[in-house]
Amino acid sequence: MQKTISIIIPVHNEEKNIALISSEITKLFLNLSYDYEIIFVNDGSNDNSGRIIEDLAKTDDRIKYIEFSRNFGKEMATTAGLHHSKGDCAIMIDADLQHPVEIIPKFITDWEKGFEVVVGIRKSCKSDTFIKIFGSKIFYMIMSRISDINIAPNSTDFRLVDRKVIDAFNQCTERTRITRGLIAWLGFRRSFIEFEANGRAHGEASYSTLKLIKLALSSFVSLSLFPLKIAGYLGIFITSLSGLLGLFIFIEKVILNDPMGFTWLSMLVVMNLFLIGIILSCLGLMALYIASINTEVSGRPMYVVRDKKGL
Ligand code: UDP
Ligand code: MG
Repeated sequence: MQKTISIIIPVHNEEKNIALISSEITKLFLNLSYDYEIIFVNDGSNDNSGRIIEDLAKTDDRIKYIEFSRNFGKEMATTAGLHHSKGDCAIMIDADLQHPVEIIPKFITDWEKGFEVVVGIRKSCKSDTFIKIFGSKIFYMIMSRISDINIAPNSTDFRLVDRKVIDAFNQCTERTRITRGLIAWLGFRRSFIEFEANGRAHGEASYSTLKLIKLALSSFVSLSLFPLKIAGYLGIFITSLSGLLGLFIFIEKVILNDPMGFTWLSMLVVMNLFLIGIILSCLGLMALYIASINTEVSGRPMYVVRDKKGL
C-alpha cells in the first residue's frame, strides 16, 4: 500500500504564499509515489489567509486545515498539525517558501533508509541580519552547555518525523514548548540534510528580534534546569569566598596582631557577605525541589520506546 505523508504548514499572515506553497507541494508529489495530505494551521492570521485556505481546501480534499481562535505561536501551530496528522510520517515546512520544497525527496530517501527524524540544517540565508546569525550562534552555544539535549546548530523546523516520533511527541503535555527541542529530547535515529534557505517569498517575518529572544529564553527554561540553579551556585561561590576571607582577616587580626590594619567594620562586611551567600545557597536548595516539581508537571513520558517484540 502507498504510504501517506502529512505536510504541516503553520500560517500566520501569509495570504500571498499559501497558493504558491500548496501548488509547489502538489507539483512535487506528482512525481513521487506517495499519498499525501497538506495540513494548513492558520495561527490567528489578521489577513485573508484563513479564507484563502478555506477556498483552497474546497478544490482539493488532500488539503486540510485547522484554524486557531487567535495567534498561539508557531510552536503551537506545528504541535496542532502533528496532533491531527494521519500520515506515516510528517514534514513540517514554513509557509513563506524559505524552506525549499525541492529537497523533500531527500528527506523521504533518508526516512526510507530507516531514519526517524530528518532535520533540515540551514546553510545560510540571504536575508539574515548580523544580529540573527550572532544570536543563534550564542543560543546554540548556551543550549549545548546547560542542557543535556543535543540540538544540532542551525537546525530548523523544516524536518521529517516518523509516525513513531509523532506518537511519542503527542504524549508530551507540557505547555511551554519548543517543537524542535522536544523532538530532540525524544531521541530516535536522526539524520541531517543541509539546505540553502531562500529569502521570504511575500510578506514579513512574524518573528521580531524580541520574539526570538523570548523564544530562546523559554527554550532555556523548558529544556534545562540550569537557570533555576544559578542562585544556588552563586550562593556557594559567595559563601566559600567570604568564608575564606573571614578566616584570613581573623587570623591576621587575632593571631598575627593585625599587621595590615583591618578594621572590625571590614569583618562585619565579610560576615554580611557570608550570610547573603547562605541565603542564596538556600534558594538554590529550594530550586532543586522546584526543579523536581517542574519535571513532574511537565508530564513528559518517562521513557520513549522505539520498538517492541512479543509484548
Ligand atoms: N508562524 C506562525 N505563527 C506565528 C508566527 C509565524 O504560524 O506566530 C509561521 C509563519 O507563517 C511561517 C513560519 O511560522 O510559516 C515561520 O515564520 P517566520 O517566517 O515569521 O519566521 P522565520 O522565517 O524568521 O523563522
Ligand atoms: Mg520565514
